[in-house]
Amino acid sequence: VIDFHTHGMPSDMLPDEFYLARARALLSSGRTREKDVGRIIEKIRRNGDDPKVENLTSDLKAAGVDHAVLLGIDWGLLGDSGTGMHPSEQLAFGLEAVRDSAGFFSFVLAVDPRRPEAPQVVAEGLTHPEVIGVKLYPPAGFAPHSSECLPIYDLVIESGRFAMFHTGRQSYPFLLEHGRLEPYSAVQRLRPDLKIVLAHAGAPFWGEEAIEVAKGHPSTYLEVSGWHAMLDTDEERVRRMLIAAWATLGPDRVLFGSDHLSGARAGVRVPAIRAWWDMFVATAADAGLSVDDVDRAAQGLIRS
Ligand SMILES: [Zn+2]
Repeated sequence: VIDFHTHGMPSDMLPDEFYLARARALLSSGRTREKDVGRIIEKIRRNGDDPKVENLTSDLKAAGVDHAVLLGIDWGLLGDSGTGMHPSEQLAFGLEAVRDSAGFFSFVLAVDPRRPEAPQVVAEGLTHPEVIGVKLYPPAGFAPHSSECLPIYDLVIESGRFAMFHTGRQSYPFLLEHGRLEPYSAVQRLRPDLKIVLAHAGAPFWGEEAIEVAKGHPSTYLEVSGWHAMLDTDEERVRRMLIAAWATLGPDRVLFGSDHLSGARAGVRVPAIRAWWDMFVATAADAGLSVDDVDRAAQGLIRS
């Protein structure tokens, strides 16, 4: 079992703007009062805190995961204050997490390409074998085919690693338009040799678009975390998405992911991760694929 999308972090990895927006969203929905905003921010922060990724590790192991990809998050340019953990600090954090894990984790370095120093940070990150790819988060406010991204893609291509992108759902203060799939056609044309991992495969809005944009480009992969959020309400839709992805792309370009974040509370989502993996493998079997088949895409990207 390889989980290609997991999160564990000290809570100050995320910028203040993110916490403030989440607290204000609760406020506007009438669930809390203005004077409580500060307290709510602290509570959200505390809940997300897992600085040594101990809770994440124990959750994933309890769910039966054998290897996991730990992702950084650089939303540092979401606002103007420059809060949040700098990508070079995230690199140090990720390297330590991988080394402490005895081979359980690989790390993906997150960087906002609008940082002037982004190419240097990426170049430094890619010198470490623990760093298997680079993650960009376009909904933080940039298009994936914009010029500031290109030096990063060139470094990624040169290193043989992959670039991973958040696609699909996101809300204020993020830009949902940069969660859309169409711009990746332009990325493919600008840098045909880039290995592209479309995280969440457009979940929950743009599954067909994700498959279509991946179809014609042999090194575009879909990572399907996020689709599992519909398992309770519309399992058939999730099933159709997986079957269509495998039918069009084959098993070599579809990646399993949980998007799991334990935060300060271990254990809560373990059965859900297990159920998602079981559903994923059972659906693969219906599509004529074995467990070895469905892990091949992840093994290839982790090894290269
Ligand atoms: Zn995620």
